[in-house]
Amino acid sequence: MKCIACGMDMLREEDHAGGDASKDYCLHCCRPDGSMQSFEEKRAGMIEFMMGKQGFDRGAAEALTDSAMRGLPAWSGRRP
Ligand SMILES: [Zn+2]
Repeated sequence: MKCIACGMDMLREEDHAGGDASKDYCLHCCRPDGSMQSFEEKRAGMIEFMMGKQGFDRGAAEALTDSAMRGLPAWSGRRP
């Protein structure tokens, strides 16, 4: 099963939000209370990740994030 919000493969129960295998999103896409992050929260987090861990500048990170998120089921109705 892949996370609907970031596309990550969830192979183990603990990869799911809150360790709950019935959730269709992963531990990286949930808030501390276990609910799914909003589009804006997830987008900001992905941009930070690409700038910090992967060294992209903000413009490139935003473009990559927007194209990645467009392909994911959780955001398919969105027009970023
Ligand atoms: Zn996820």
